[in-house]
Amino acid sequence: MHIRFSKILNDIHSILVPEGCFGCNAHLSKGERLLCTVCRNQLPLTEYNYNDENPFDSIFYGRVPIKKANSFLFFTENGIVKNIIHHLKYKNQEQIGAFLGEWCGAIISENNPPKIDMIIPVPLHKKKLKKRGYNQVSQFAQKIADHLNTHYEENGLIKLKNTKTQTKKDRFFRWQSNQNLYEVNPNMSFKNKSILLVDDVVTTGATLEACAKAFDNVEGVTIYALTMAIVSKT
Ligand SMILES: [Zn+2]
Repeated sequence: MHIRFSKILNDIHSILVPEGCFGCNAHLSKGERLLCTVCRNQLPLTEYNYNDENPFDSIFYGRVPIKKANSFLFFTENGIVKNIIHHLKYKNQEQIGAFLGEWCGAIISENNPPKIDMIIPVPLHKKKLKKRGYNQVSQFAQKIADHLNTHYEENGLIKLKNTKTQTKKDRFFRWQSNQNLYEVNPNMSFKNKSILLVDDVVTTGATLEACAKAFDNVEGVTIYALTMAIVSKT
């Protein structure tokens, strides 16, 4: 109840107080939603696709069998993408996911995408989901499913442990603590399916790797990955 109430308060607040741009905080003009026109034009699109190799693919070389990875935007330490993802995750602005998914889905569907049977978001642990009130990846992933004309499965994966944010741990410890962190939903069948795993921001790929590992014992499964953003190394 507490979560819903704070969400309602936040919604009321959004109606009463005109929102600034989620990218740069500038005042939004009439007709602008979420992002001002300047930020929209400056969004750093990766222009990756599912046909050519990209730097995201190389994250998984020699690790898990993720067949092909794709990411919509570049995430930089001080930038528009960081700001909008922060609002999406921590400021109750769930609709940002739908906005990005609409855009990203249109691009993917026009660029010879692989055949996908099922889209599954990286899940939150149930305690974290309760606290936040939503999975920040859900609306994005649903829009991608709409554009690819495929099935969206919110609960295809289950997160078993409620881990703390791991950004401060090094790669090995992250890898170690990620083992057996997710399991496939035992009530569903994934055999011979082509699955697209969706997450918000990819840094080392450890989360997607742990999710892909959950499918280790599923016969004939093919796994693809998509994220809203990828941490830019430059
Ligand atoms: Zn802006």
